[in-house]
Amino acid sequence: MFKNLNNELYQLQSYKYIIPVPIDQEGYIDKECPNEECLYKFKIYEEDWRNICKDEAIYCPRCGKTETSDKWFTTEQIEEAKQRAIESVKYRIGQALRRDAMEFNRNQKNGLLRLNMQVSGFRHFENNLPLSCRELIEQKIQCEKCNARFAVIGSAFYCPACGNNSAINTFEEFIKTTYSKLNNLKVIGESIENKDEANRIIRALLESIPNDLVEAIQCLSESIYEKFPEYEKLSQNTFQRIDDADRIWKQLAGISFENWLKEEEFSKMKVYYQKRHLLIHKNGIVDANYIRKTGDNSYKIGERIVFSQKDATEFTDIIKKVGDGLKNISNDN
Ligand SMILES: [Zn+2]
Ligand SMILES: [Zn+2]
Repeated sequence: MFKNLNNELYQLQSYKYIIPVPIDQEGYIDKECPNEECLYKFKIYEEDWRNICKDEAIYCPRCGKTETSDKWFTTEQIEEAKQRAIESVKYRIGQALRRDAMEFNRNQKNGLLRLNMQVSGFRHFENNLPLSCRELIEQKIQCEKCNARFAVIGSAFYCPACGNNSAINTFEEFIKTTYSKLNNLKVIGESIENKDEANRIIRALLESIPNDLVEAIQCLSESIYEKFPEYEKLSQNTFQRIDDADRIWKQLAGISFENWLKEEEFSKMKVYYQKRHLLIHKNGIVDANYIRKTGDNSYKIGERIVFSQKDATEFTDIIKKVGDGLKNISNDN
């Protein structure tokens, strides 16, 4: 009796469900880094994705790793595609079953077979931020090498199309976007109806800032360092370590953090680096290491650190100064 169903199942073996990726009002599409440790989300101008990006290698703006162009769908796009494919398969199986049932019933004298396939609507996914808020914290970048246009949140400076590190040219814009994020926290909070959700998002936004700042200065440092003739390959996160960075700049340029920052600012910078470390690697929970390295006695081991708007603003001011200092080295060189 399942002739129609068998037929349908046979055809479904070679079934492909293609869903178009939505293009936003400004012509950008969403992408996500396939590197499991990164999963960074960014946008790229759809036309440039088609015309400038190469299928063999797309670069992640944040981690710089490459993968072929078919690996960059976002988790949401894949989920939606899956969901739609399932709905579509359900529908086709349902239809086939109905046809089978009808044929079966037509030939039955006694009793009817009833089938009821319910096709439910698509999952509605939660977007963390209203679109209007995304614009306040998003930075648009055009690659100076290949002209590809992309948009990022936080520190991300590699061009997805050609891998060029654009930190020198976009660092200033990054700092501006960070201040805009900080100045608009209230607006962002008010635009989210659920107050608990609003508080959660604001805290997440604030706590993302130290890592963005550290990675931004790391990326800027790398791109300046590579211009020196003495340039040699360094281990991956060399410029995330203040002592290493300090030694390198002193060697190469004869100046470093003490020249760009007041003593007090330099000490604060070190504390913020440790706070960032806690937020990224320890869920923000204070450990003995933190207290030993910073001498910060305002916390006990096991407490969670607070990263306030004031902290974020102060850290941004400091990183801006360091960035300006670094750019001067690069101009002199
Ligand atoms: Zn990545
Ligand atoms: Zn490029």
